Amino acid sequence: MQTSPIETDAVVVGAGPVGLFQVFQLGLLGIQAHIVDVLPHPGGQCVELYPDKPIYDIPGIAVCTGRELTERLLAQIAPFNARFHLGHEISGVARQSDGRFLVDAGHDLRFLTRTIFIVAGVGAFKPRSLALPGIEHHLGSQLFHDAHAPERFAAKHLVIVGGDDAALEQAIALCPNPDQPTPHAAASVTLLHRRELFQAEPARVEKIHVLCQARRMQFIAGQVSGFEATEGRITQLQVSCADGSTQALPLDALLVLLGLSPKLGPIAHWGLAMQRRQLVVDTATFTTAEPGIFAVGDINTYPGKKKLILCGFHEATLAAYGAAALLWPNDPVNVQYTTTSTQLHKRLGVDTPAQSV
Ligand SMILES: Cc1cc2nc3c(=O)[nH]c(=O)nc-3n(C[C@H](O)[C@H](O)[C@H](O)COP(=O)(O)OP(=O)(O)OC[C@H]3O[C@@H](n4cnc5c(N)ncnc54)[C@H](O)[C@@H]3O)c2cc1C
Repeated sequence: MQTSPIETDAVVVGAGPVGLFQVFQLGLLGIQAHIVDVLPHPGGQCVELYPDKPIYDIPGIAVCTGRELTERLLAQIAPFNARFHLGHEISGVARQSDGRFLVDAGHDLRFLTRTIFIVAGVGAFKPRSLALPGIEHHLGSQLFHDAHAPERFAAKHLVIVGGDDAALEQAIALCPNPDQPTPHAAASVTLLHRRELFQAEPARVEKIHVLCQARRMQFIAGQVSGFEATEGRITQLQVSCADGSTQALPLDALLVLLGLSPKLGPIAHWGLAMQRRQLVVDTATFTTAEPGIFAVGDINTYPGKKKLILCGFHEATLAAYGAAALLWPNDPVNVQYTTTSTQLHKRLGVDTPAQSV
């Protein structure tokens, strides 16, 4: 039986930097939000694509990394107790007869909301897989795209596909060590990457060389060109090696770590006006053509649009005011300053400083 939808005033789709700031601006206006992201952590591109790179153009912060910016935004929105729903992809939105939207977030999570903020950036980040028809049927049984739950690989003949830090880290962590057996070690580890050059920390690359020399794992430069399955189980991969040869590689489990690629996915099919896969908005309130659905950050487009975090912050501010006007049409919301407004201090959970004479 389906559980009842969560009733709320606002659902924010996307917990990237702009989605997080959207929660802040809504909170200042007294609108509590639920925030949903398909990723298991907040931060969007900042955490997924450049967690340790410096950002220099956030106002008032001379420099911070993608991860630090996310941490600061999370601290800033803490007073508003937004409910996070991570690991959920918003797939469907349907207007109800009472004007609210029924939002489907998968895994039996639904919302009945009066406003939606699409802050989906370049789309939902999905793991890149192998372009082999039928391999997806083995997802979750023998094919995996994440390194969680290493016990899945214990005592298995494991092939890891990838050449970046994530792939090398797992190859190192899971390869067997006869001197010091660990509970999650695989029976064997083969690292497969299209060439001998890795895009990883030099120390990790060095460790891989050492482990290969010690015959604790093997490395093959090549690409998976096919697979064989018997009775619903993958038994071996066909590998086209970089030296032109082909090789059959028996295995129990396949861990594909080829990074993530963004997919706009279901949002493209919600019937909202789009230009080059971006949502067209009115720049007064950043509403889409559908009243109650706002679009801010990298997902939107308008004359002069710049895909910058700073611009997304501005858009989120005006969208919050747009939502307040929609939620309380007879009670206009005026701009208040966080420096002086006792109402905002209350919402922020800070003490109002005594008035100086
Ligand atoms: C390498 C690099 C460096 C950059 N450096 C800078 C810089 O120095 N300064 C700057 O201002 N900008 C920089 N940018 C751009 C900046 O990262 C983006 O403008 C910013 O991340 C946009 O934020 P956002 O919240 O709109 O989207 P995103 O950060 O893309 O977040 C969107 C989130 O929505 C989620 N999502 C999407 N669809 C769904 C769905 N259907 N259901 C659930 N969740 C969904 C995604 O998983 C994602 O977490 C850089 C970008 C890159 C790639």
